[in-house]
Amino acid sequence: MRNYEARQRVLVTGGAGFLGSHLIDRLLERGDEVICADNLFTGSKRNIEHLHGHPRFEFVRHDVTFPLYIEADAIYNLACPASPIHYQHDPVQTTKTSVHGAINMLGLAKRLRCRIFQASTSEVYGDPSVHPQTEAYWGNVNPIGIRSCYDEGKRCAETLFFDYHRQHGLDIKVARIFNTYGPRMHPNDGRVVSNFIVQALRGEPITIYGEGQQTRSFCYVDDLVEGFLRLMDTEAGFTGPVNLGNPGEFTIRELAEKVIALTGSASKLEFRPLPADDPLQRKPDITIAQEKLGWQPQVALEEGLTRTIAYFDGLLAGQGATTAA
Ligand code: NAD
Ligand code: UDP
Ligand code: UDP
Repeated sequence: MRNYEARQRVLVTGGAGFLGSHLIDRLLERGDEVICADNLFTGSKRNIEHLHGHPRFEFVRHDVTFPLYIEADAIYNLACPASPIHYQHDPVQTTKTSVHGAINMLGLAKRLRCRIFQASTSEVYGDPSVHPQTEAYWGNVNPIGIRSCYDEGKRCAETLFFDYHRQHGLDIKVARIFNTYGPRMHPNDGRVVSNFIVQALRGEPITIYGEGQQTRSFCYVDDLVEGFLRLMDTEAGFTGPVNLGNPGEFTIRELAEKVIALTGSASKLEFRPLPADDPLQRKPDITIAQEKLGWQPQVALEEGLTRTIAYFDGLLAGQGATTAA
């Protein structure tokens, strides 16, 4: 627990979402005061209901595309729908959230002269022609496709962070997050880990897009949040971007087989068309995170999947996934 002088008031945008709610748990555990600002578009009160009445926690329903005038010592900017189904639901709003949201939170950080963290993404690398992806790689992104609202929105947000840093001397920390999974993922957000687990637990077919030979690297949420905290605690002047993710690389078919084995499900594989612009391969080079943050993931995929399966098992048993928002 931090003493009074060391205690910070931390603003977490998107704090009612999957990653944000885990981050808030860790910040409260270490003694910080937390303001969660979220418009509950993809997040849910359920993710933060255990914090109801916590003396150092406050929830504000707020859309980051509008200005926010509050006091804080540090800002984590996570507000943005993250799964393709969600960010493609209202693509214009997705770009606005990334770009106007970044401008407003940077304006807030500028007024407060406080440190600000950006949840960027491996999607800035697009369908990468460099493998594994290092931070020096500029990416291969389609500017006019169905993923562009998210990819280009996040790229523009990075531009804004670095221009506020250069032009206004802002203390920025930019993390490029690779696919992350764990408890509190939204059961209907269409992401591969939540889809496969929910399908396996219900005995429904496991939907593999394409032939399942595309690869992803899956990081367990606790590991990721540890990376956030370490990046935020680096010395002023260290801006990133820093890749945060698990370098273990698996094909989507391998993931399906692991989920079937760990759930003991009788589900069969079902092959569906590959969505447009779906990256063929993705794996972070985490050398910078290892050297600058002394960070690397600790939780192996089987272990993380086992914990996530236990979460969804409880959720489905409790109320049925379709009403679990
Ligand atoms: P999530 O959808 O669970 O959380 C996003 C949160 O932002 C939700 O609570 C949502 O209600 C809120 N939000 C959306 N638009 C908003 C707006 N205009 N104003 C205020 N709040 C708004 O997704 P997540 O997986 O927790 O992702 C959090 C952040 O991390 C996002 O910025 C995402 O782009 C980034 N990220 C996540 C992953 C991943 O694998 N989970 C990978 C790369 C980057
Ligand atoms: N802003 C905010 N809270 C603040 C300060 C600024 O939400 O405490 C928003 C405001 O909408 C502003 C934006 O951040 O337009 C960018 O601020 P900046 O100072 O960079 O530029 P401005 O537009 O004020 O010249
Ligand atoms: N995917 C799949 N079946 C599903 C959901 C996703 O095969 O039910 C694939 C998807 O086409 C992609 C990978 O799994 O190649 C990861 O998808 P996700 O949406 O989780 O993340 P992203 O594509 O943003 O990395």
